[in-house]
Order: sequence, then structure tokens, then C-alpha cells
Amino acid sequence: MLWLDCPHCGRRPLDEFSFGGERRSVPDSITDADERDFDEVWVFENPDGLTTERWFHAAGCRRWLTVRRDTAIDQVVDVVP
Ligand SMILES: [Zn+2]
Repeated sequence: MLWLDCPHCGRRPLDEFSFGGERRSVPDSITDADERDFDEVWVFENPDGLTTERWFHAAGCRRWLTVRRDTAIDQVVDVVP
């Protein structure tokens, strides 16, 4: 069982959370507003290493969290409200 340390609710099982995608910056080369929105929501880098993700605590405080996770070892580095 994987766990996340919610800053509001404490240590909770991962199945209480919904994945909201990677948090990354859109390349400056994309200037069209619609294309920037598409890229921000649907394009993922899926790196083998440190990544920043958004998670929603659906079965808890119902707040969005920013989680830094090392995908190479599937370990959470830190959680920010
Ligand atoms: Zn919570």
C-alpha cells in the first residue's frame, strides 16, 4: 500500500487521492492560448526521476496538493499544500 502524507489530514492511503497530472511549465515556443491549455492538461513528460504532480485528496480534506515524487523508485520526496 502506498501512502501520502497530507499536510491537512496526516498519513493516508493513496487510494483516497485522485491523480491530477504532472505540474510542469508549458514550453515558451507554444504561443497560442488553446494550444498552451492543451499542452498543460494533456502532454506529460513522464520522467524517470524527480517529477512534480498534483493530487486531489478526494476522500479527505478535498484539497489539491503538490507532490514531488521520484518515479525511478516510486517514492514521495515531499508534499506541499
Ligand atoms: Zn487531506
